[in-house]
Amino acid sequence: MPDRFPVTERTRVVREANRAVYDRETIYRVLDDAFVCHVGFAIDGQPFVIPTMFARIGDLLYFHGSAASRMLRGLASSLPVCITVTLIDGLVLARSVFNHSMNYRSVVALGQATRIEKLLPGRWTDARQPNERELQATSILKLPLTEVSAKIRTGAVEDDDEDYSFPVWAGIIPLHLVAGEPQRDDRCRSDIPTPAYAFRFRGGR
Ligand SMILES: Cc1cc2nc3c(=O)[nH]c(=O)nc-3n(C[C@H](O)[C@H](O)[C@H](O)COP(=O)(O)OP(=O)(O)OC[C@H]3O[C@@H](n4cnc5c(N)ncnc54)[C@H](O)[C@@H]3O)c2cc1C
Repeated sequence: MPDRFPVTERTRVVREANRAVYDRETIYRVLDDAFVCHVGFAIDGQPFVIPTMFARIGDLLYFHGSAASRMLRGLASSLPVCITVTLIDGLVLARSVFNHSMNYRSVVALGQATRIEKLLPGRWTDARQPNERELQATSILKLPLTEVSAKIRTGAVEDDDEDYSFPVWAGIIPLHLVAGEPQRDDRCRSDIPTPAYAFRFRGGR
């Protein structure tokens, strides 16, 4: 598998192109740090962008959809989608209003999503298995990662040269998504140990 995703006419970043990233491992890391994606699709010419949870396994993205949702009703065999993942790493407070920004990592993936019948491993093996009604109500879609771009801003404030002497505080306010200690459900038996994977998120995903 190539180390980089090919740059296509649809995935070429135009503005601030120096922030564009097509390196496969970097894109995988951004995806793996995120819990939520936004799925964009059009039904009868109307765009919808719906947030949902997702996971990456290899070069496939899996995301959940309620069978009753518009997204899945619109899905006969395959649905053209644009999946976006956004991680916010900091607020960038520049000297000029114009140069305020954010540090971020984002990924845009384009392609055809298809419904799959089998669900995901992991927590799956511990939890109660779905009954027929629950299976009917749940669908997982998959999207092969083929046409993908990332855009990443890191680092310091970037002001115009003449503004560096302007007497105002400038800097970065770092933002982090932090997982706390696992909290046992009130109705979870106390003799059931907390599984190791429940602590996994403390050091970041
Ligand atoms: C948190 C956050 C805040 C932002 N704030 C601003 C803002 O205030 N003003 C602003 O102009 N831009 C902002 N951006 C950048 C914005 O997402 C676009 O990159 C920007 O609008 C320029 O798009 P374009 O015209 O180069 O590409 P477009 O023509 O819009 O897109 C072409 C292709 O480039 C790729 N692409 C474009 N943007 C991204 C991206 N962010 N991540 C991954 N792939 C991408 C996609 O494959 C897309 O299909 C922000 C991004 C993030 C993540």
